[in-house]
Amino acid sequence: MSPLIIIGSGLAGFTLAREWRKLDSATPLHIFTADDGGFYSKPMLSNAMAGGKTAAQLATKTAAQMAQELNAEIHAHTLISAIHPERRSITENGKEIAYSRLVLAKGADPIRLPLQGSGADAILSVNNLDDYTRFRAALEGKKRVAILGGGLIGCEFANDLLAGGFSVDVIDPGTRPLAALLPAEASLKLQEALGRQGVNWHFGVKAEAVERSGNALQLRLSDGSALEADVVLSAIGLRSRTTLAAAAGIQVNRGIVVDNRLQTSAPDIYAIGDCAEAQGKVLPYVMPLMQQARTLAKVLAGSEAELSYPVMPVVIKTPACPITVCPPALGVEGQWKVESTPAGVRALFIDSAERLHGFALSEKATAEKNSLAQQLIPS
Ligand SMILES: Cc1cc2nc3c(=O)[nH]c(=O)nc-3n(C[C@H](O)[C@H](O)[C@H](O)COP(=O)(O)OP(=O)(O)OC[C@H]3O[C@@H](n4cnc5c(N)ncnc54)[C@H](O)[C@@H]3O)c2cc1C
Repeated sequence: MSPLIIIGSGLAGFTLAREWRKLDSATPLHIFTADDGGFYSKPMLSNAMAGGKTAAQLATKTAAQMAQELNAEIHAHTLISAIHPERRSITENGKEIAYSRLVLAKGADPIRLPLQGSGADAILSVNNLDDYTRFRAALEGKKRVAILGGGLIGCEFANDLLAGGFSVDVIDPGTRPLAALLPAEASLKLQEALGRQGVNWHFGVKAEAVERSGNALQLRLSDGSALEADVVLSAIGLRSRTTLAAAAGIQVNRGIVVDNRLQTSAPDIYAIGDCAEAQGKVLPYVMPLMQQARTLAKVLAGSEAELSYPVMPVVIKTPACPITVCPPALGVEGQWKVESTPAGVRALFIDSAERLHGFALSEKATAEKNSLAQQLIPS
């Protein structure tokens, strides 16, 4: 019998495997991954420094342990180079391997800025355990880190690096941190809190070039100023890995397009996690991929399940100013109503009929998360 094949051993691939094994313990399962095939929780990458955690400490299970737990074959450090929907097979190192059903859980790539200069190749990004190992090695004996991007991942790393004793500069062409997710007042709270702890913000400017200068790196910014750092971390966003699917003639948009049963445009090929676009959205967070994985496990086991998202607040791991946000769905008409309370910022996204479509809470006001989540109008 041809196996169920999953490409990817991130949270999406492994969550699916675990959920599916609860429903089907017999069908062969093969997981192919460019990683080492162990288990780790990716969100820990941006708050591990404060606790001094190494990559080895973040990896909680080896590939062999996962293979045993899932009754699966795990092919680590194995890149899949092509999908052949018409022959129901994939290619690995020139060899064709047949599947009964195929799940793409390939994640997303960090976006790279096309920067000039002799130090451009020294810019790091952290999107898996190997990246984290490289990042930790680069920080050894160093003090100054410049972060490109003041979004969720940039702010979390900024907070974590401060806690780890580094000096931090954050460069962002926008006007405030987390501008895509938060109303201005909540951004300001975060900006002030991280600023008090030592973050140097550089808003309204872009990095244009990075030059090596002895052991350091010199960033040239678009306003003509320069900034010296020991390590430059890029955190400007992720792009779903769609190339393999597109080359196989599978429909892709911002992600690999799937229906409510997580099926792509090709029969018996599914996609979940950061590489997938479900209900018109790529949602690169843990809660959506869990929901997708649970639904797909049922679909693969023969049930009529369909994807439906619960309310999925995003918790931002910035202890200097904890934030929980549930952004309104794209295109919903309304406005933020913001109160600055002694507990923190309490921002509600309300439509003209006073119905709640989203919220952003800071500090102690985050305690209201569950009660507000219950009042949200489903999108
Ligand atoms: C620093 C950081 C902090 C985060 N913090 C949070 C948070 O606090 N809360 C939250 O909800 N979300 C957070 N996220 C997002 C969340 O971690 C991701 O949405 C999630 O981990 C994505 O899982 P995935 O399995 O889809 O992708 P990945 O974990 O990227 O896994 C993709 C897998 O596919 C494999 N692969 C890709 N191409 C191939 C190929 N051709 N052949 C073989 N294998 C291949 C890779 O090797 C890998 O195993 C964070 C992300 C980052 C980077």
